[in-house]
Amino acid sequence: MHRLYENEDIVIFWNSDCCFHAKRCVTGSPNTFDINRKPWIQLGNADNKEVWQAISQCPSGALSCLYRHGIDITIDLEGQKSLALDGDKVIGECDYDIDNGTWNIYHTEVSPDYKGKGIAKRLVYKVIEASERQKAKIEASCSYAKKVIEE
Ligand code: SF4
Repeated sequence: MHRLYENEDIVIFWNSDCCFHAKRCVTGSPNTFDINRKPWIQLGNADNKEVWQAISQCPSGALSCLYRHGIDITIDLEGQKSLALDGDKVIGECDYDIDNGTWNIYHTEVSPDYKGKGIAKRLVYKVIEASERQKAKIEASCSYAKKVIEE
């Protein structure tokens, strides 16, 4: 299971397939990570520095963190894409099609001016998360998205 958690400043990626429940994140920031709560990750209960340090202790790679850079990521289920927005301006997208209940990501692109900010990963994660919520299978013919799915 893949999930994204965001506040104004940071984005957390969580891949439960890698998590072996060592709970170092819980020890590092108990008000942020609480396995008895839904959602189990809640931003806003500790400062970003504490959260970032807790994530850096994750031994499995299940958790990772990036700055948001003021970019919003949305999902457009009808248009079969996720979009990256700088204000009203679309600066990236991740497109998929659906065949027999399987979602296939075939294209991921971010404007060259916004490279190096982790936006492509956020776009792909948004699509993976949406597919999982719909209990659909996900695959990728886009090589970048395939790498994110498999990491
Ligand atoms: S520290 Fe990492 S491996 Fe351990 S529970 Fe937290 S996310 Fe899972």
